Amino acid sequence: MQNHHLKEHLYKILVIGDLGVGKTSIIKRYVHQNFSPNYRATIGVDFALKVLNLEQETVRLQLWDIAGQERFGNMTRVYYREAMGAFIVFDVTRPSTFEAVTKWKEDLDAKLSLSNGKHVAAVLLANKCDQGRDVLTNNGIKMEQFCQENGFVGWFETSAKMWTYPSRKGPRRDTCCRTVL
Ligand code: GDP
Ligand code: MG
Repeated sequence: MQNHHLKEHLYKILVIGDLGVGKTSIIKRYVHQNFSPNYRATIGVDFALKVLNLEQETVRLQLWDIAGQERFGNMTRVYYREAMGAFIVFDVTRPSTFEAVTKWKEDLDAKLSLSNGKHVAAVLLANKCDQGRDVLTNNGIKMEQFCQENGFVGWFETSAKMWTYPSRKGPRRDTCCRTVL
């Protein structure tokens, strides 16, 4: 029997960041629970739908995965339009992809704002943390501070490859997309 009290929400969520940081992989892991080590560049725009059946409501997350357009300035307003939030992804093994994060954020904010004039919520994902955390530790970057200064609501270490990964403080279990998204 259908529950008529169930509310339905559809949210468009962007997943952006430099080429090869793992955007497609994170989405595949989150939506289909799998991972492929084979590099396969996305062509066109990919959509993935994640349905969250919560107690009082059904939330449909429409994840927008860009494709071969991973250079700042290349993204069109049309692509960003009506998004409710964004994940900006970088690869912890490649510092240049972290440096690009602020440019992605600026591009997003320049082209998109909510109807109340505010910026959409953006979350920073430090992906491939199964590979090491050089960018996070070597440069002495304080991620909380970085998020505050650059308008991110928060950040998470992620791995599309592994559910768990070693960390300096010992093993941690709260990994990756399952907890992140
Ligand atoms: P995109 O261009 O941002 O969509 O990146 P892809 O999802 O295509 O991933 C690029 C490459 O990085 C692929 O070979 C993936 O298998 C690999 N990759 C993605 N995420 C991870 C991760 O968390 N850990 C590791 N070790 N490799 C990853
Ligand atoms: Mg891709």
